Amino acid sequence: MSLTPLETHIQALNRYLNFHKVCWWIIDIENATDVFYCNDYMADVFNLDKSLSCHSVSNTCPIAGDYLKNVELKSSQQAKLILSQYQDLLNQKIAEYKNYFPYFDQRTNITYYFTSRAKILELNDKGETVIIYGVIEDTSTIERQHQTIKMQNKMFKELSETDALTGLSNKRFFMELFEFNFDKAQREQTELAVLMIDIDYFKSYNDYYGHMEGDQGLKKVADIIKNSLSRKTDVVARFGGEEFIIFFTGVSAQETLKLANLIKKNVELAKITHPNSAISDYITVSIGAYMKIPSLDDHAGDKFIKYADKNLYKAKLLGRNRSVIN
Ligand code: GH3
Ligand code: MG
Ligand code: MG
Repeated sequence: MSLTPLETHIQALNRYLNFHKVCWWIIDIENATDVFYCNDYMADVFNLDKSLSCHSVSNTCPIAGDYLKNVELKSSQQAKLILSQYQDLLNQKIAEYKNYFPYFDQRTNITYYFTSRAKILELNDKGETVIIYGVIEDTSTIERQHQTIKMQNKMFKELSETDALTGLSNKRFFMELFEFNFDKAQREQTELAVLMIDIDYFKSYNDYYGHMEGDQGLKKVADIIKNSLSRKTDVVARFGGEEFIIFFTGVSAQETLKLANLIKKNVELAKITHPNSAISDYITVSIGAYMKIPSLDDHAGDKFIKYADKNLYKAKLLGRNRSVIN
């Protein structure tokens, strides 16, 4: 008895393609779109019933019908892409389908990652797709490495943006965000405010307690400043030494001063003992603020920082533990 074309191909695939850890499958598109044949290894990997000679695409194919059950495609967009590329292959818009999908194995509760490729194996006289086949490989190890690298990169990025002692943003990151928001405020003609905060007589705090304790004092002040801000969009950074900087947008001069005074008061209320301060028994801060709608001929945000710094200097001259705004 002669073999059908499909049976001939299956025989050939069994002879040529049973590599270690390689799944293969084949579909007779012309006669049975919803039926796929595969090797034993694929049946093992995707938990298919091995007593059956073929399987249902819509019910058990790991990347077609089964994806909702076992394939963790986070966004349906990715699922749509996979299916539309599969259609493109059938319609001969692409010569080779190559995709990648995660598969959640309910037996082990582990998500594996597979690379899937498919090609047309046979066309009929009219040039229509008759038989397609594909291979699926487990690329979990590579994917896990990718994920580790991605996670490490994210961690490095966060580290490079953060001040190690206080956990606030660092100056570099602050400047990046600030320049971006300066341009935005200039474009949209909204208020932009900068606060420069400096701990009073901090040198003598260090002299009294030592540098290590000084670090702890800095950290406490940093926390107080951070907790005084209620809007997620307010960005606070350690600008250097015992100096902090904040910018925010869309707030009037009056409100800016109110916030500066709140920070000043919260630091005072924390009662961090400072035996060497000339003006208080506790740590205090001086704040210089500057608020303006950036005019179109303002060229950079630097001016805001410069004026906030000037006002900080004024606050120091006026006796410290106070806020000064333009
Ligand atoms: P003023 O009220 O005029 O600001 O006086 P000040 O003593 O705070 O100012 P000054 O600029 O003279 O000294 C700042 C001190 O801050 C110097 C240094 O001892 C301390 N400082 C800067 N960075 C750090 C740090 O990372 N850790 C510790 N522990 N101290 C720091
Ligand atoms: Mg200083
Ligand atoms: Mg100081």
